[in-house]
Amino acid sequence: MSNNATPNITSLSLASTESHCCWYCGRGEETLPTKLQKCGQCGLAEYCNRECQRGDWKLHKAKCKRLTEIVVDTNLKNRLRSGALKRRLLTLSGGTVILNIRDPDITTIGDMNLAVARVRFEAPFFDCKSLLRVDLRRCTKLTSVGTAAFCDCSSLTSMVLLPDSLTQLGDNAFQNCSSLTSVVLPDSLTQMGEAAFLSCSSLTSVVLPDSLTQVGRLAFGSCTSLTSVVFPDSLTQVGLHAFCDCSSLTSVVLPDSLTMLDESVFGGCSSLMSVVLPDSAELGDEVFDECDALEQITALAGFDSVELYLRDRYKSITLRKLVLRLFRKYNKAVNYAYGTEAKKHASALAKFPPDNTGSLEVGLFLQKMSISGGDGVIGLVGYILQFV
Ligand SMILES: [Zn+2]
Ligand SMILES: [Zn+2]
Repeated sequence: MSNNATPNITSLSLASTESHCCWYCGRGEETLPTKLQKCGQCGLAEYCNRECQRGDWKLHKAKCKRLTEIVVDTNLKNRLRSGALKRRLLTLSGGTVILNIRDPDITTIGDMNLAVARVRFEAPFFDCKSLLRVDLRRCTKLTSVGTAAFCDCSSLTSMVLLPDSLTQLGDNAFQNCSSLTSVVLPDSLTQMGEAAFLSCSSLTSVVLPDSLTQVGRLAFGSCTSLTSVVFPDSLTQVGLHAFCDCSSLTSVVLPDSLTMLDESVFGGCSSLMSVVLPDSAELGDEVFDECDALEQITALAGFDSVELYLRDRYKSITLRKLVLRLFRKYNKAVNYAYGTEAKKHASALAKFPPDNTGSLEVGLFLQKMSISGGDGVIGLVGYILQFV
């Protein structure tokens, strides 16, 4: 974040409708009692109040007078490619440009199938270190952000995309955007290219959209500040090395929909301690290779492999869910019953006959605990806690 003018922004969004947030504390305008106030000198930086403005000034003053807002209103070809705009951006100094693209007819930024050798010349914002913020909210027909479109934009702290039209994010689209701290992707997205966020070293949290079924190869590799990832229930596959070397990641909950974790998906995630790995997921080679913390926990728990340990944990999680479900059902039955506590429990118990086929039985629990009045519930809680 060394070349970043606004290092205090902690929450940035690709999908949010809020584009105006305080340059110092990062709070969105909609959460504030009054409108944001602009810096009188550059007219671009916005703050909650004078305290925030004062707080940011030390960093802001160096760029204040040089800040530029570039507004793109029309683009005849419905496509934004490299050209005059990029040439101008390349001449401006680091982290000084707010780019506001307003052309409602743009459907594509860049090119989805750009050859690696042409990226440097043809990806529309490749290596544009002058970009500080990009606002694409007015691009209501935007469906794709092409290959390496914003690759190496290392001062880019904020990116506002309109949520509902975007379906494709190209390979390397935001690779090396080392100042981006948080990403919320739109629900319309179905396709995310390889290495889309590779080496975004300030990225701390990612919310993957509900529509997404696959996370591409190397998608979030070497995002070394990433601590939290929210996976959608639609996810079926996670590609090769997708989260490798995310050394700050401590826990992940993978959804029941998952069928495949490819080779080395979490390789080198040295802080990873907790993984919910559904039974449905097949594992490629070395998925948890060099996950030091996880290997330690596995050994302590007496398992030979991380996979065996996680499989076992998943079974106990499933059991816990089942027990809690039964407990809720039993509690409801007690609440509906009449009489003394003991009678209530007896009548609730009668609703869970011990000869019921199936896995776990509340009746069986209660027999084990020598139920008596209110103590029965305490005993039941105690019994359940063994599984939690
Ligand atoms: Zn503020
Ligand atoms: Zn200013």
